This record gives sequence, structure tokens and C-alpha cells, in this order.
Amino acid sequence: MEITSASTVRLKIPFSDGGAGVGLFPTKWSSLDFVLLKLETSDGITGWGEAFSYFCAESVDALLNRSLLPLLPGLDPLDIEGVMQNLQHKVHIIGRYGITMFALSAVDLALWDIKAKSQGAPLAKLLGGRRRDKVPAYASLVRYGDAGLVARLSERAAEEGYGTIKLHEITRPEVAAARRAVGSDLAISTDVNCNWSLPQTMDMLPVLAQLDFAWLEEPVFPPEDYETLARLRNNGVPIACGENACTQWQFRELISAGAADIVQPSITKLGGISEYLGVETLASEAGLTLTPHSPYFGPGYLATLQMMAVSQHEQLFEYLYIDREASVYADLPVPENGHVYIPDGPGLGMDPDLDVLERFSV
Ligand SMILES: [Mg+2]
Repeated sequence: MEITSASTVRLKIPFSDGGAGVGLFPTKWSSLDFVLLKLETSDGITGWGEAFSYFCAESVDALLNRSLLPLLPGLDPLDIEGVMQNLQHKVHIIGRYGITMFALSAVDLALWDIKAKSQGAPLAKLLGGRRRDKVPAYASLVRYGDAGLVARLSERAAEEGYGTIKLHEITRPEVAAARRAVGSDLAISTDVNCNWSLPQTMDMLPVLAQLDFAWLEEPVFPPEDYETLARLRNNGVPIACGENACTQWQFRELISAGAADIVQPSITKLGGISEYLGVETLASEAGLTLTPHSPYFGPGYLATLQMMAVSQHEQLFEYLYIDREASVYADLPVPENGHVYIPDGPGLGMDPDLDVLERFSV
């Protein structure tokens, strides 16, 4: 079998989050940017991948089309390791991490999709077989910066059956409002997206410990300041990080520096399934909890679920708590009663809805 064609689909799907849409990204965030990758093969199998693309879709798309896709036709899609090592090597001079690795993640996901489809099996089966049909999901709320809204949406997520919610709040009134709203039964965490200094974090840790927060995510900038993260551990709240780390190389540094209680690889950012599997091994050898980063809704969402189907321990799935105008998949499983079903169709589990791709393509 060989790859016969490679192309991208850029999508923009509007969403609402119940708030003002500001705080998390450089500008207002009101639509989901996707770069999907479509690989076709001589056997008639189509593989789909996704590159992390929020606020960088044009760049990711350009890198794929300019530098990566021309290298693919004629290659054997079943030789995933060979193809990926070759691509990683060929583009290392334009930067190992960030947008380069987002683009490479899409290629890796599409190759695994093809490999599983060539065996007529869901990806989980190739990786040892599924140990579970569904996993607990947490509601990942955006940043509202408004204690009233935080309370209302936390309460709504609790009523919908989530056992865990994650805030992106960075100030005391908001984190306290969430705990007041849901009582003591729910697990709550907050993701700071690197907005605090070390002294600010040391001030906030006792507050979060008092509120019984389950973890504190990426408190300080830069996210690869593993030494500081290591100093922040053992202060009453577990430290989570990893969504901005790429490849097993960076995760090896992160883990050996002792930077994390909870490791958070992002399958559309770190280099795809191949790199993710390596990170799982590293985390498990170090005895760390792994909670994937997955606030996206394309092939990366499905691939993350396939990884969670085979993981040794049950893990928590991150579900971005927004209302999308459309779904890339006609039957995308979304959390019900705090759990999300893992699809078991061939490949990543299901294929995109071509009408939606056409309607929302840029
Ligand atoms: Mg995060």
C-alpha cells in the first residue's frame, strides 16, 4: 500500500461559551479552528488527522502544504515509525516544537487511522485491546473572569452529572465561587495558563488547598520552567503540566525534573499517537497520573479516547465546555452523566461528516 494523495481541510466552527470569550487567547475566542489532514492510499483507505490550530490555523496549514505533504505520496503508510522519523528529521531545522510538531501530529494521527482501518479494527485493538467502553469526563470551563458566571456554569455542569470540573480562573473570587456553587462533592481544579509569578503561586496554593482543589495546572511562565514547577509541588495541591511539551524528549526532561504530579500530553500538539505512547510509558514508569489535554473536537478527540480505552488505569477526559454550532462527526460521543463513550468503528472510531466539512471550510 502507498500514500497516493495528501490534502488539508481548514475549518472554522463558531461556538458560544456563555461568557465574553476573552481571557484565554490573544484575541476574542469565538470559533474553533481546525486543520484536518486527509491521506488517501492505493488500497482505497482514507486516513484523517488533526493538528492543533487554535489561533494558528493559517501557519499550520501552510507548513503542512509547503513542507510536509509533498514528501508523502509514494510512502508506505503502514511504516509509521519510518515515515515519522524521516519527517521529523527533514524539518528539524525549522523548529522542533510548536507549529512544526502540531503539523506532524496530524500526519501521525492519519497514519494510525489508516493502519487500524487496514485491519478493519478500532485503533484500541491494535494497541492491545480496549479495557473499557467509556471514561469519566471533566467539564473544562473557559475563563469567565466573573464569579457569578463561574458559579452558574459550575452548577450547571454539576447538574449535568460531571464529577470533576476544571476552571481557567486566576483570581480568588472566581475559584471560591465555584467551590461554593458545587459544594464539597465535586472535584475542582484550575488552569492558570502560565499567568502567575512564583510569589503569586505561593500565595494562591494555600487558598486552593483550603478549597480542596484537585490540581493546579500550568501556574507559571514559561511552561518549560520545570525547576520552578518542581518547587511548587508538595504544597497541598498537585501540580499538572505538559500540554505545551512536545515529543518524548521534552516529557523526559519534564518528568526527570520532577515538574509534575499529573502529566498532560496533548495528542494534536506533541507529535501524535506515536509520541503519546512513549509519554504514557515514561509517566507510568515514574508512577505519575496521566490526564490528557484534549479541548478539541476532531480526530484528536477520537485518538485521545482510543488511548484512554487501552490505558492501564482509568483516566479523566478533558471536554471543552462550550456549545458548538456544528460537529465534525455526525455522532460524536459527548459526555452524558459525566462519562463519554469510546467509539469502536475502524481506525480512530468514526469518519468526518463531509457535509459539515464543506459547510464550515475556510
Ligand atoms: Mg491547560
